Amino acid sequence: MDNGSAILENPEVRQFFEEVLGEEGLKVINALIGREATDEEIAEELGLKLNLVRKILYKLYDYRLASYVRTKDKDIGWYIYTWKLDLPRVMDVIQERKRKILEDLTNKLEYEANTVFFECTNDHFRIPYDIASERGFRCPQCEGALEYINNQEAVESLEREIRRLQDELENPVPGALKAPRM
Ligand SMILES: [Zn+2]
Repeated sequence: MDNGSAILENPEVRQFFEEVLGEEGLKVINALIGREATDEEIAEELGLKLNLVRKILYKLYDYRLASYVRTKDKDIGWYIYTWKLDLPRVMDVIQERKRKILEDLTNKLEYEANTVFFECTNDHFRIPYDIASERGFRCPQCEGALEYINNQEAVESLEREIRRLQDELENPVPGALKAPRM
């Protein structure tokens, strides 16, 4: 029986969790898969600090990948938080992140494609034409000479990256996606 852990075999999903939750994130997720447990139980089982487990759980909560039920312990009077996961939603979260990255890259491409750049011959400090002109074509860092630089390569590399992301967004096959290159 699949208890929901199959999704963790997707390298993109693993990378997402490692990036967002840190090393211990996957341990916490694995401990919570297919069941409900309190933060204290998980911390004890994994031998992790309670604060760390809570931090990870609340991060998951922020992404709506986990939820909790709060109950009051009648004996000790403390609140107890019982957690469970909603892992399948992670595919949506990853897609949303990609859409955001795509938007940023598109803006960057627009800027690169519509800007003429000059570059310092000493330290390769790059600067748009307008500012270079204002500064008499002298580098703001070292006063070196600024020369025209062709940014076609940067434009093409952005275009490639955008096409790759668009392709991934259109074909979100779990487990078959390449890990995002950032
Ligand atoms: Zn310079």
